[in-house]
Amino acid sequence: MSAEKNGQDLMKKIISLCKRRGFVYPSSEIYGGFAGVYDFGPMGVELANNIKAHWWRVMVQNRSDIVGMDAGIFMNPKVWEASGHVSGFSDPLVECKNCHTRSRADHLLEDVGVAADEKMSDEEINKIFSKNKDKIKCPKCGKQDFTDAKSFNLLVKSNLGDFTQSEADPVYLRGETCQGIYVNYKNVLDSTHLKLPFGIAQIGKAFRNEVTARQFIFRTREFEQMEMQYFTRPENDMQEYEKLKEYRFNALLDIGIKKENLKWSKHENLVFYAKEAYDIEFKYPFGWRELEGIHARGNYDLTQHSKACGQDLDYQDPITNEKFIPHIIESSIGVGRLFLAVIADAYEEEEVEGEMRVVLKIAPKIAPVKVAILPLMKNKEELTQKAKEIFEELKMHFICQYDETQSIGKRYRRQDEIGTPYCVTIDFDSSKDNSVTVRDRDTMKQDRIKIDDLINYFKNNL
Ligand code: ATP
Repeated sequence: MSAEKNGQDLMKKIISLCKRRGFVYPSSEIYGGFAGVYDFGPMGVELANNIKAHWWRVMVQNRSDIVGMDAGIFMNPKVWEASGHVSGFSDPLVECKNCHTRSRADHLLEDVGVAADEKMSDEEINKIFSKNKDKIKCPKCGKQDFTDAKSFNLLVKSNLGDFTQSEADPVYLRGETCQGIYVNYKNVLDSTHLKLPFGIAQIGKAFRNEVTARQFIFRTREFEQMEMQYFTRPENDMQEYEKLKEYRFNALLDIGIKKENLKWSKHENLVFYAKEAYDIEFKYPFGWRELEGIHARGNYDLTQHSKACGQDLDYQDPITNEKFIPHIIESSIGVGRLFLAVIADAYEEEEVEGEMRVVLKIAPKIAPVKVAILPLMKNKEELTQKAKEIFEELKMHFICQYDETQSIGKRYRRQDEIGTPYCVTIDFDSSKDNSVTVRDRDTMKQDRIKIDDLINYFKNNL
């Protein structure tokens, strides 16, 4: 089977598992769905919360030089003018003249191995597009007849506060979370003890009118970003940039992603103000794609806002009294993209006694459920009562699930598919020897453990 076909198959399996086991559902499914939006189910919300908590621990809790904040989704429309989003936050859109499917011109070019970039002008991209038009096919109908590429702005408009329906100055849903950080940089500086270099971190929703919302939760129109903006002295930014690159790469390893599935990719076409930009790419089933961006942005953002709002956003050095606009380096990663990377990285199929076992080998620290408590059979009070007692005790320490439905084999498979590191089985000997069987997800090895030792056992192993 070709690598592409393998990847498509794997994606289908992942999407099906996500639905079947309550990780991710298509939005508004009973109404036929809603393109570009997905909902997290009971397992998905646990995993997403654990991913966000891990990021917060790494980026805020473990760092004395970084603080958190949480800005509103709606902002003054002037923010988006000053940042350049109203005029320049766009993707090149082409439409198939046969079936009217819209696609991103840069993506169609990349698909046929031609380097292109969403930041190119319409003229540039049209030139490359027409040079390669014999190679490019509509992803839906396969025809090769497209309209010219036109820039399509990605900002999502709302009618917030517009009681006259004038459509003047629309209020946007934020297209990225970092603008909330830039406009609060001075507030944070004035209300904390921080001195340069320091960072501000934020997790929150962002919205983009993506031309093609494909590839499951990789590219959605509503998504969540985890961003950290680090403010430095101008002469120190590249040194801090190298440190941030290493720190973020290690954080992805720490969340359990395999090193061989991650790589660096340098931006060849930099936006005019950027000093350097790298992405960390993950090997998704559909190929290497951007998981996280780490960018050195110079002093562009604060300079733009300072000019547009007329306020001094200079930093004054407390020792030398020298004044300057700090430089910014940033890291930015989508929760959904990391979620999909975690699942794709952890997904394994193994043959066990002639049967296929699907298992998510997620790092225990982010697994949605840590311990499943399973009485060997239901309707046997000596088993279920003991199991419920153990559940009551363990749930104080770990996220647990009590399950007495179906055969024990099926329950193990279910826990394997949601990535539960340990299953505790209560059998007929348990009340006699005060012990239970603990099954390890990855090795499937079973250990007999004293009930009184369970909490310590899991604390040591999780
Ligand atoms: P792409 O080139 O894939 O469209 P981008 O370069 O526009 O991404 P940034 O603006 O740098 O992305 O956003 C930072 C991060 O936010 C990305 O690395 C990604 O993890 C996440 N992200 C951006 N757009 C989306 C989206 N539509 N859906 C999910 N996550 C997204």
